[in-house]
Amino acid sequence: MTAESPRDVIFTDLDGTLLDHESYSFAAAAPAMALLEARSIIWVLNTSKTCAELKPLAKRLGNRYPFIVENGAAVVVPAGCHLLADVEMTLIDGARHKCFAPRRHDIIHLLHGWREEKGYKFSGFSDFDAVALRDITGLELADAELALQRDYSEPICWQDSEEQWQRFERDLKVVGLQALKGGRFHHIMGPANKGLAMSWLVSCLYPSGPAPRVIALGDSGNDVAMLAAADIGVVIRSDHHAPPDVPNPKGAIVFTERSGPAGWNDTLLDLLN
Ligand SMILES: [Mg+2]
Repeated sequence: MTAESPRDVIFTDLDGTLLDHESYSFAAAAPAMALLEARSIIWVLNTSKTCAELKPLAKRLGNRYPFIVENGAAVVVPAGCHLLADVEMTLIDGARHKCFAPRRHDIIHLLHGWREEKGYKFSGFSDFDAVALRDITGLELADAELALQRDYSEPICWQDSEEQWQRFERDLKVVGLQALKGGRFHHIMGPANKGLAMSWLVSCLYPSGPAPRVIALGDSGNDVAMLAAADIGVVIRSDHHAPPDVPNPKGAIVFTERSGPAGWNDTLLDLLN
């Protein structure tokens, strides 16, 4: 690579982006994934999933780079990856974590205290075992087990009034937490987002020399901060929901023609060739 050739770095969401919304297949993205491999371009998984869920998935995808978990809560450098060797990180279960959010055990401690003292009615993942979570969500038992192993967020199911919810949200705000609405659960977590974690990782991967071209791909509201912070934000079309608005983007915003991994593939091949 010559000094003047632009270096690309890729950040990608998973569900509905690299993985098909229904089948979770990434087969349609194989040509672009092969090109990334052939050119040794770093590509980073940036997802709401947990570290426990990501480890086997990254292997299946053939991705050996650091990844970002739980909506930007942490950058994780898996065992065996030698990038960011001189960055100070926390060792958790054999992987190095750069944490941008409070740990889940502290969040649970707080939530359970409020449930006692303030009488809020909700149940969360910490109240469930894998069988209970499988019955609620329809996940396979093994996947329910992985989903329960969270490090930075506690999904809860609200069982109280709207009025109590308003009070609960105010309490969260006071202690610097937020409730991120997912499909079935509210994810109680710190003020992290996918964009902040991405920008931190870019600055660590390329501490000097010309800045790389940052390409980010995502399909949903929780991807907006990442899409807005990229040089090229690729909004992946969905057959299930409207594309998110990306206000005040730093660079260009591109919309894919096709949905999911097929759109991921077409657009990356276009941008890289
Ligand atoms: Mg998605």
